[in-house]
Amino acid sequence: MRVKLLAGNWKMNKTNAELPAFFAGLSTELRIELAAVQDKVEVLFAASYTLLQKALELAGPHKIRIAAQNCHWLESGAYTGEISLGMLQDIGVRAVLIGHSERRQYYGETDQSVAAKTKAALSKGITPITCVGETLEERKANKTEAVVQRQLLAVLNAVEQPGDLIIAYEPVWAIGTGHSASSAEAQDVHAFIRQVVHQKMGKNAAAAMRILYGGSANPANIAELLTQPDIDGGLVGGASLKPDDFAKMIRAALEVAH
Ligand code: PEP
Repeated sequence: MRVKLLAGNWKMNKTNAELPAFFAGLSTELRIELAAVQDKVEVLFAASYTLLQKALELAGPHKIRIAAQNCHWLESGAYTGEISLGMLQDIGVRAVLIGHSERRQYYGETDQSVAAKTKAALSKGITPITCVGETLEERKANKTEAVVQRQLLAVLNAVEQPGDLIIAYEPVWAIGTGHSASSAEAQDVHAFIRQVVHQKMGKNAAAAMRILYGGSANPANIAELLTQPDIDGGLVGGASLKPDDFAKMIRAALEVAH
């Protein structure tokens, strides 16, 4: 059984001073200990580098996972401004977002760099949450499956075993726009992703892989998204910044998981 995963992507938001109130607020709003429901729902936040250490300290007791939002694929070297997976591991980070569309769009991330980062993370035992998704123009041109398949195969061709690779399907047109994909639209692409994984990596890998949906997920639409058979969780931007909204989403995920 695939345990649901709600992953918050804080992007370039929050300071260390804000974190204690955030985690305290989340815990109060939740009214349950996440550690007690780990077999049903996992929670993770992807934070900026300067927040990682404090977030790990505060999240650890609640069994909330903390991820970085990017990494380099090489161990070390003359790459000013970059962070290696070894550096993340050094402070206890065990997960990383890779190839978010904002990084593809604004920072020249390519299918090749996304594949190299995913491969490096898996080899280090760090869980990659690797993002794929089409733009509005691509969707309108009926290229959704072709684009997602290209992005996904670049990654799957690079890794020998998928390990605990998590794929996030994030249609670019739905990110931060308030226009989520409908649950049926998302389910169609998730099923397609699972089929591509099946063809490339086999039945067991496809059955085990968690595929998250991201793009304007919020407390009002998360339950319906999560009831779809191939949607195993959410990657949530805006609605992960407020503890009350995110707590509502976690509670909805728990209800679906029952
Ligand atoms: C994201 O940044 O991954 C995301 C899905 O953002 P939002 O939920 O704000 O659309």
